[in-house]
Amino acid sequence: MSNFDKINLILKLEKKEEILYHNAMCGIFGYIGEKNTLQICLKGLKQLEYRGYDSAGIAGIKNNNLIFCKTSGKIFALEKKIEKQNLELDIAIAHTRWATHGKPDEKNAHPHFDTHLSLGVVHNGIIENYAILKDFLKNKNIKFSTETDTEVIAQLISYNYEKYKNNLYLTVHESLKLLKGSFAIALIHKDHPNIILAAARESPLAIGFIDNKNEILISSDPNAFIGHNLNVFYLRNDEIALLSKKSIKTYTNQKKLIEKKTSLLEGKNQTFSKEGFDHFLLKEIFEQPITIQKAMLGNISEDFGTAYFEGLKFSSTELMAIKHIIIIACGTSWHAAYIGASLLEDKARILTTAEIASEFRFKNPIISEETLIIAISQSGETADTLSAVKEAKAKGAKILGICNVKNSTLTREAHSCIYLNAGPEISVCSSKAFTSQITILSLFTLLMARLRHFTKEDGQKFLSELKKIPKIINQVLEKQKEIKKISIKYSKYKNFFFIGRKYMYASCLEAALKLKEISYLNATSYPAGELKHGPIALINKNLPVIAFCSNKQTYDKTLNNLMELKAREAPILAIAPNNAKEILQIADDIIFIPNTIDELAIFPTTIVGQLFAYNIAKAIGIKDIDQPRNLAKSVTVE
Ligand code: GLU
Repeated sequence: MSNFDKINLILKLEKKEEILYHNAMCGIFGYIGEKNTLQICLKGLKQLEYRGYDSAGIAGIKNNNLIFCKTSGKIFALEKKIEKQNLELDIAIAHTRWATHGKPDEKNAHPHFDTHLSLGVVHNGIIENYAILKDFLKNKNIKFSTETDTEVIAQLISYNYEKYKNNLYLTVHESLKLLKGSFAIALIHKDHPNIILAAARESPLAIGFIDNKNEILISSDPNAFIGHNLNVFYLRNDEIALLSKKSIKTYTNQKKLIEKKTSLLEGKNQTFSKEGFDHFLLKEIFEQPITIQKAMLGNISEDFGTAYFEGLKFSSTELMAIKHIIIIACGTSWHAAYIGASLLEDKARILTTAEIASEFRFKNPIISEETLIIAISQSGETADTLSAVKEAKAKGAKILGICNVKNSTLTREAHSCIYLNAGPEISVCSSKAFTSQITILSLFTLLMARLRHFTKEDGQKFLSELKKIPKIINQVLEKQKEIKKISIKYSKYKNFFFIGRKYMYASCLEAALKLKEISYLNATSYPAGELKHGPIALINKNLPVIAFCSNKQTYDKTLNNLMELKAREAPILAIAPNNAKEILQIADDIIFIPNTIDELAIFPTTIVGQLFAYNIAKAIGIKDIDQPRNLAKSVTVE
């Protein structure tokens, strides 16, 4: 079997799994079944930990009483508290919270309850009209005990309960109609001790069950189902599921009972494993030679020097008619968008801009029949990106999604979608998804260029350079020890400038963001030529400059900028191609990396940036590298 066949086989096997990985910010977990409810829920919560969270809690029913336990901080603390309380539960709902409304303290941790402690709710998302509802309920003499929007759901349902004659399903159905915003919820009620009610609007919620329905699990992220073999389906558009032992009833928002289509999750023998690495981030950084190959696989035609994508539903004629592209994304994905825009303009000669999604949606963008919108989101659940997509669709734009997670909301909103095939990214701080996004954007650029002025030879040349990237990345990864040593040296500083020109500016943006995210140090990125227009005022011997010098076209100009900084005593760490000589006279430290064409130098430089950030974070003793404070894996709130 050739290597190509092997990788294709892996991809085929993984295809089945990919359907199952559906990201969610913070986390919901619930369990009905014969096994130890607490243990299963705690394990489920631990498998959601990688998402990032600030507090956790659980509530369940025992002897017709509603019992709960919550803590601020980590699940470990919750586990300890549960042990102390000697808790026992028959059915339970649990949560890891990423605070949006109210401090991340114990009181605001989920589950939330009504005043009589008759029902408990866990919730992901935001209730946009919570203030109005809270005022209304307060006027009815209902006392609130938290600052969250979620408590409004609990109090509102409880308030309506009598009105709908204690029919829990009907009460929830009617109450949901009063909520504005996005949510996935799981709810228990002491009058219905065997039931968990689940509902979702614009926020993922999966139900998994074994064949005889003796065990039912609920989660906002099926990664929490790892360790179980389950039939899985998702709730959407205000659907409500009533779950009890041996029974699952799902209703549409029109109260119609429906049978949901399920897919099989064979998670029993799977585990989350760092495979010997200290952190998921480091493991994922080292996976990149493979994940980049996976992003390329099946998408290239060397004979014709072009790219094609299974699942790209736009015809060549439609693609040829595109005269304007807007790429929308957030965070690291926006950095990929920025590179993609440069590539598309440079190589395919199409007017392209990269727009930050949260800004784009409030613009009045010019969109015509000839405009293509590319939306990039690792999870496919990024709320800002999804809102921008909806705005662009309302203006009649064609949407192409680039996404890692099958079945995610972006894949449904977009007219067509290209997958990264990078496998689940567990570290909150993105690494492999970013380089896969750039791979896909490079290939899409190639396709668009070939449909225009690129000759077959131009295409083949570009492809042959792209195919060298996994090997080049391996060579950079081999420098981990050297990069670690340099990072330790630079870890004494508190502020950093990252500079570069042309394609290297994107490397700076991404490297500075990695450092901020995981080391909590102040890092700013600038196009090198911009320093003299203001930021150079900050330069002194305590402000190191990390200079990305791998863009041949702008190399000399970057060196001039570095001379200006050296004259002002800035410590300089340069990342430069192997054959760069002049840099030896200027920089204090140099990390040499393999040569590639300017358009692809983002790959090796990004790996250096990732390893630099990782090693600095370790050197200064940051513990939660995989779950940095205040951050969540996929940001499903706007
Ligand atoms: N908006 C809710 C809160 O602040 C839920 C946040 C979440 O999705 O974790 O508690």
